[in-house]
Amino acid sequence: MIKQVRANYTAPVIEKEIRDYWDSTDAYHKTKELREKGERFYFVDGPPYTSGHVHMGTALNKTIKDILLRYWRMNGFNVRDQPGFDMHGLPIEVQVEKKINVPGRVNKDGKPDEVGVRSKKEIEDIIGIDNFVNTCKQHALTLQADMTEEFKELGVWMDWDHPYQTIKNEYIESAWWTIQKASDRGLLDSSSRVVTWCPRCETALAEAEIEYWDETDPSVMVKFPLIDDPNTSLLIWTTTPWTLPANLMVAAHPDMTYVKAVFSGEDDRHEKIICMESQAEYVMKKGGFTSFTVLEKYKGKDMVGMAYKPPFEIDPKYLKQSEYLFKVVNADYVEQDNTGLVHTAPGFGPDDYDTGKRYGVAPFCPVGESGRYTEEFPLMEGRKVKTVNEDIIKILDEKGLLLNSEKIKHRYGHCWRCKTPIIYRNTRQWFLSVPKVKEKMLSEIDRVKWVPDWAGSTREKNWVDGARDWCISRQRYWGIPIPVWECKCGERKVIGQVTELKGSEGYTEGMDLHRPWIDNVTFKCPKCGGVMRRVPDILDVWFDSGVAAWASIGYPAKKDEFEKWWPCRFIVEAHDQTRGWFYSQLGAGVMSFDRAPYDEVMMHAWMLDTKGQKMSKSLGNVVEPKEVASEFGADAMRLYSVRANAPWDDTSFQWDTKKNPPLKEGPKNAWKVLNTFWNVVKFASMYMEIDEFDYKKYDPAEMKLYFRFEDRWMFSRTEKMKAAVTEGIESRELHKAARAIEDYIMEDLSKWYVKLVRDRSWTEDRESQVDKLASYCTLYYAIMQTAIVMSPFTPHLSEEIYQHMGGENTSVHMEDWPAVNVSYIHNDIETNMAVIQELVEDIATERAKMGSKLRWPLKQVFICGKDKNANKAVEMFEDVLKQQGNIKNIVYITADKIPRDKEPCSYSGGQMIIDFDVTPEIEAEGYARELIRRIQQMRKDMKLNVEQFIDIRVSAEDYLVKLFGTWKDFIAGEVRAKSIEFVAPEEGMKSWDITGKDVKILVTPL
Ligand SMILES: [Zn+2]
Ligand SMILES: [Zn+2]
Repeated sequence: MIKQVRANYTAPVIEKEIRDYWDSTDAYHKTKELREKGERFYFVDGPPYTSGHVHMGTALNKTIKDILLRYWRMNGFNVRDQPGFDMHGLPIEVQVEKKINVPGRVNKDGKPDEVGVRSKKEIEDIIGIDNFVNTCKQHALTLQADMTEEFKELGVWMDWDHPYQTIKNEYIESAWWTIQKASDRGLLDSSSRVVTWCPRCETALAEAEIEYWDETDPSVMVKFPLIDDPNTSLLIWTTTPWTLPANLMVAAHPDMTYVKAVFSGEDDRHEKIICMESQAEYVMKKGGFTSFTVLEKYKGKDMVGMAYKPPFEIDPKYLKQSEYLFKVVNADYVEQDNTGLVHTAPGFGPDDYDTGKRYGVAPFCPVGESGRYTEEFPLMEGRKVKTVNEDIIKILDEKGLLLNSEKIKHRYGHCWRCKTPIIYRNTRQWFLSVPKVKEKMLSEIDRVKWVPDWAGSTREKNWVDGARDWCISRQRYWGIPIPVWECKCGERKVIGQVTELKGSEGYTEGMDLHRPWIDNVTFKCPKCGGVMRRVPDILDVWFDSGVAAWASIGYPAKKDEFEKWWPCRFIVEAHDQTRGWFYSQLGAGVMSFDRAPYDEVMMHAWMLDTKGQKMSKSLGNVVEPKEVASEFGADAMRLYSVRANAPWDDTSFQWDTKKNPPLKEGPKNAWKVLNTFWNVVKFASMYMEIDEFDYKKYDPAEMKLYFRFEDRWMFSRTEKMKAAVTEGIESRELHKAARAIEDYIMEDLSKWYVKLVRDRSWTEDRESQVDKLASYCTLYYAIMQTAIVMSPFTPHLSEEIYQHMGGENTSVHMEDWPAVNVSYIHNDIETNMAVIQELVEDIATERAKMGSKLRWPLKQVFICGKDKNANKAVEMFEDVLKQQGNIKNIVYITADKIPRDKEPCSYSGGQMIIDFDVTPEIEAEGYARELIRRIQQMRKDMKLNVEQFIDIRVSAEDYLVKLFGTWKDFIAGEVRAKSIEFVAPEEGMKSWDITGKDVKILVTPL
């Protein structure tokens, strides 16, 4: 049964009702059950971080997923659609640190100062790791629940009752298994290296965890006097004076030329300095000299071994003696800028570290985890490194070693969570040797299908090509514990499964595998009998999601599940995942299974603000999905998100409520499309309900004989739209699919076909009943097919329409994806209709030029086709042309018969001549139609039902009354009037201006 849809498309209200309907009918589970026996399709959700909040990018991400999952289900696949959440890591820890209390802490004045954790020491000594980790867990779960609700409000159908969570024991176990696998293959190792370090969070950070922005720092040139010739100095340059106490070498480029020169300035000032030849001018200016004289030149390679006196004396017990300590060495990375000599502190820079390694100089790192100097540099012990810069500069100046001191602005790295400037530190960390599996990773990129292709062949490949060892250890609490136990004797044990913990000290079945509980599990060393303890580190949170493809199905514990689903057929994430999730999965997959865990990767882009800038809280340009959905509905937001651009091109989201007037064009335009469809359905469902149209009785195949050409045109257009949508989704060009739907609704369905059939729906003439049914049948088909193919994009609206149009399933999402019926496609009919559309448009243009109103019929139009076929096109749709052009007569003529007094205009099929002559009959009809339009408007204003009969009283000048009189029956029929009377002006009549003449009308409902 068809039920009329409500008057207005109030999207937020309708969407809420639909979600309640899905809940009450269990539509989601029924849809899944329907496909249970279908071919399995393993999709893995890239787990969003539990931030508690869905931003526009996450909304786009889940929209794309939801579109594709629904589409595959409609194609019969049994789709695994488990959502995931990335729940460990620093972001949660930092949030918890901010809100947790440190009991008993007082400030300088002895007053209580308990809010917020300031160091790891406070967590370990006062709060307790167990308490801290439990708080993190609760916090993550709350955030997950909040996000789940927001995803549901977007209409996303996933298995929300059974998400995979990276904090679950079985997930942790899968991560451990992967580490064990890497260890077995010799890909896991620990070593001392210089890593990026957050002094506040007191942990190593990965490159991906560092945010860069400009920072003002000192820029100093410092002299290192030579041992052999203390009056001559090597001149180095640095922006980190605080690293100078750890200086162990000076690097020169082997192939560059260096000079020893006397620099002279005012007041008889002279300095003997060694710097790169090309930089001497620069040094002269920066040092405040006026001239210099070169005394000697050397190649960088000949300077190796030149000994100098370091700026700070370090107790020799902290330094490993070696040949090149405090000497000039060579390095290729030395550039032709500043002084051309590079201060080298192997404890504080990765390049420096490598250089030290080449020359056998062990790093010296007098800085602890919290970024404070240790007793190894007593002068500054206990102070934070970046705060001592000014003091260091002062000391250098007093020692006469400072040549120049300035400030510069430069890009500097900061911790992604707490925004503290990072430092480099030499520490012991755990690494996965990605370079060892790089070749396999590259060949896997070739095997996998990437959408677009360059996402793999260029972006991912470039990234993997430059892959370095992956530092997977973090010195924190809320994460997957590294499953490595070590003994003092050097013995090491890597645990892969929980069963391997049995027999250890401190293990109890079912225990939480997080810190600090796991830290109490120890083994007896098989080699020396000593105690094996776990390495206290946890895993980099980026590693967590890297194992999702097997951890989410509980492998290796659940082997059968794995057999059933593995491998993953499809993933889709934003382009920043080239170095994130695409990469971590590729690496972890190759290490564990010798393959990428996925077969197809689709890359999507970002949602930017109206100006194309990244949305960020600090810029105040964030658009909240909730805000948009509460005004135009989630469906309009979804449709806009995917129609705006190709999925892999960034979208400047057209929404800015700070503007005056507010800019809302993006979602609003998408809403207009949906509203247009709504109005089509409203029109159709209203008449069909009144006529109790039983769509089941009128199969298009059996109605064939009764279809007009325009009906067949509509069928053809419908099939073309379906084909375009299918093709768009298959090629992942979702924008093309969405635009195909949009064009079809706006141009074919609403702007054209509905106009053509209005009169047919209206007729009560018995003989025309089958013609009316033919139009219903066409319209019904068009609407239902559209609702079905739109359903992945606009799940709520499609459901509402489907249910009102008598859809047979509990949900539109249980429908099969409709195949394109080729027998409905008629290219010739479409071509001919296109000619008619062109003619109608041309006639409207010509009318406008002549000041001829559309409601006034044209006496005749001459068509002079360039050949027979051209005229045939018009003949096929002569009625349509007459109706849409409001033309009384079409006359086909040959070129020699074109009336001399008329101006022909050309169209694609030949020439057309409009006869604008106004006869009394035409004038009468014109006025009649003008009157009808006013009465219809009044009916509308009075909100009369279409079936409502009325009485009409009209007051106008005699001439018009005479004209109206000849069209009285027609007018009555069109406006559903039982009577029309022409009378003198009366009270209550509404006055209208019809082409300058006053006409008064009274409409009385019966
Ligand atoms: Zn930090
Ligand atoms: Zn041992």
